[in-house]
Amino acid sequence: MLTSEQREHLVELRRDFHRYPELAHQEHRTAHLIADRLTDLRLDEVRTGVGQTGVVGILNGARPGRRVLLRADIDALPLTETDRGQSYRSTQPAVHHACGHDGHTAILLTVAELLAARRDAWPGSVTFAFQPAEERVGGAAGMIQDGAIEPRPDASFGLHLWNEIPVGRIDVRPGPIFASADAFVVELCSTGGHAAMPHQVADPVMASAQLIVALQTLVSRESPPLEPAVLTIGSIHGGSAPNIIPTRVELQGTLRAFAPELRDRLLSRLRELVASVASTFRVESHVRMTDSCPACINNVEMAELVQRVAESIAGADNVTGDQRTMGADDMSLFLNDVPGCYFFVGAANSERGLDSPHHSPAFDFDERALDIGVQTLASVALEFLNGG
Ligand SMILES: [Zn+2]
Ligand SMILES: [Zn+2]
Repeated sequence: MLTSEQREHLVELRRDFHRYPELAHQEHRTAHLIADRLTDLRLDEVRTGVGQTGVVGILNGARPGRRVLLRADIDALPLTETDRGQSYRSTQPAVHHACGHDGHTAILLTVAELLAARRDAWPGSVTFAFQPAEERVGGAAGMIQDGAIEPRPDASFGLHLWNEIPVGRIDVRPGPIFASADAFVVELCSTGGHAAMPHQVADPVMASAQLIVALQTLVSRESPPLEPAVLTIGSIHGGSAPNIIPTRVELQGTLRAFAPELRDRLLSRLRELVASVASTFRVESHVRMTDSCPACINNVEMAELVQRVAESIAGADNVTGDQRTMGADDMSLFLNDVPGCYFFVGAANSERGLDSPHHSPAFDFDERALDIGVQTLASVALEFLNGG
């Protein structure tokens, strides 16, 4: 599908984004390059500043028809990239495309190029959504608020390059693939007092210890054993000296689940548990939700369509359906409003040392995955527009 010239350009594009990574909602250079390229390709509409630094392009085909949305995330992470002698290493201190979003951006721009070149040959319309701030899980909400899914598409698709599986493989499955993520802060408060006179004062440190243990029962006792859920307390702060009972302890954590009903139930049980443990130990409690993102749930028919296309590109033996993660991705907000499918494109190559985990300083991937990503995403869009 791609000429060797297009393939070279695709790699160059990815390497350029890789050299100049930008953090969430600071993707000004990236957005500028995207908008310029879409304008050069003569899209029917190019909108910038969508959800702060997002870009939306609309491309109409030869005649009216279905509307499909393709999404790529464009932001990088606050990490210093390991120097492995690669010519395209990040030039920005402590910023690194350590999740492959440079690849996603290059892939979607190349899909736009292919579809624009053949616009007389297909019906309907394509919305290209270049989303900022996925890593802070806030970018999709802002884009949707700013009209990224108006006019409303009939289907939405996106891919994630994935170092958990080797290059050449594509993984697609119906149902949940990324979990919901709800970040919370719990405050436990008391009047404070002398460490040697604990009977005079409520102790928020003791309450926090009991609460951390009690919260794990949300997973071990409240969740059905066959339904995945995770609760992690990642931060705890309180106190200033060994002989003082402090006035305040703060816990921060995250709750993950696949099933929306389970998520709702665990969130309400979390509040109940905090209130009851706090009252048992005579401290005051407050729960604040700071960030939330629903689970990424693939539509059954759309997943079948992607699977069919993936088999035609990668071969049936190379299409699997076993990748799920309790990580979160706000592609879920698009999938919540527009039925669709988010899938994984294998990107690891252990022989070449390109298999470091996502979000690690040494993360990099086999660039052959770019070509596979372009072919799959472009074919998925055409298959849907042609009524597949
Ligand atoms: Zn990531
Ligand atoms: Zn990512």
